[in-house]
Amino acid sequence: MPEQAEIYDVTIVGGGPAGMYAAFYSGMREMRTKIIEAQEQLGGFMRMYPEKMIWDVGGVEPIRCEALIASLEKQARTFEPTVVLGQQVHGLERRPDGTMVLIADNGESHYTRTVILCAGRGITRMQRLDIEGADRYEVANLHYTIVNLERFRDKHVLISGGGHSAVDWSNELAAYASRVTVVHRREKFDALERQITRMYEHADVRTPYYLSKLYGQGEQISHVDLTHMETGAIERLEVDEVVVNHGYKRNYGALLDWGMEHSDYGIIVDGQMDTHLPGVFGAGDFVTYDSKVRLIAGAFNDAVLAVNSAALYMDPTANKMAGVSSHHEIFRERNRTFARRN
Ligand SMILES: Cc1cc2nc3c(=O)[nH]c(=O)nc-3n(C[C@H](O)[C@H](O)[C@H](O)COP(=O)(O)OP(=O)(O)OC[C@H]3O[C@@H](n4cnc5c(N)ncnc54)[C@H](O)[C@@H]3O)c2cc1C
Repeated sequence: MPEQAEIYDVTIVGGGPAGMYAAFYSGMREMRTKIIEAQEQLGGFMRMYPEKMIWDVGGVEPIRCEALIASLEKQARTFEPTVVLGQQVHGLERRPDGTMVLIADNGESHYTRTVILCAGRGITRMQRLDIEGADRYEVANLHYTIVNLERFRDKHVLISGGGHSAVDWSNELAAYASRVTVVHRREKFDALERQITRMYEHADVRTPYYLSKLYGQGEQISHVDLTHMETGAIERLEVDEVVVNHGYKRNYGALLDWGMEHSDYGIIVDGQMDTHLPGVFGAGDFVTYDSKVRLIAGAFNDAVLAVNSAALYMDPTANKMAGVSSHHEIFRERNRTFARRN
């Protein structure tokens, strides 16, 4: 171990809602905290839907996802954790003194007493359109997510896909676009019934069709072909923007080789977020257990449990949970600052 290397109490892998909230809560427990995120920014999967409105986080008024990310990041940095961006954690080694070393893809080593895996859906990449040469339109009007709804104002938008994202975007775009066409290769959509009903109310829905060809000048798509799945009949449409929601590819790298038990839904943990690897806990969408809630709110709860378990792992006599923030000594000075400001 290099002489100057610091051993952290807890190293959190993944900077989505679970990882960010874990960083806040471990700071509140006065644990020396590091968070390592593979992407160049914190936010996790929420970065895939920055323009969506979030209604189901307790006590938070409907809020654009990107604003919620900003607020979570601010909270995560309250106790000034070390934040490492752009490194994907692969390896785990154990040292004779019981501490661990996490090895990142760039070869860097991170020394820690405990680990909380908040790797969510892993490193997610949008499933690209399987049409040769489609990538050249990505700089102009072929989109895999929507970062600015205004861009679609008064346009004809074609959405390809049949899951939650396709259906939800068709509804969000209704208020902006002049026309929304949804193309899906099956008759049935995999989304909330209410959302599907709304989609049929305003969108031109083409099933069972698939997006078979793109035509354009330079980097701009001008027309598309939709092919009927059964008859092969082709319909040509003029479009302004194309949005493709064909799901995501996940990549967990070597994390799944660490020896943790997993199912199709994630790493299996107990009620204390224990992965059963000594000192290694998990939180958020990366883990599964009987009553798992796959929501941002569920990720927060997991994060609290995982941090408390990490604290108890380091010191079995530690309190089972941190004190409530309203009575927490650590906030005394900060509360005075807030009181002075307001
Ligand atoms: C379309 C869609 C809409 C949704 N809308 C809502 C909603 O309205 N309300 C709600 O509550 N929930 C919603 N969710 C669910 C919510 O996004 C997830 O529950 C939440 O993001 C899970 O957070 P997480 O921190 O566990 O994982 P993630 O958000 O997936 O973050 C995991 C992070 O870990 C990083 N990572 C992965 N592996 C490594 C590694 N080896 N090394 C370093 N970093 C790594 C990733 O880059 C990523 O940043 C939605 C989900 C989808 C798909």
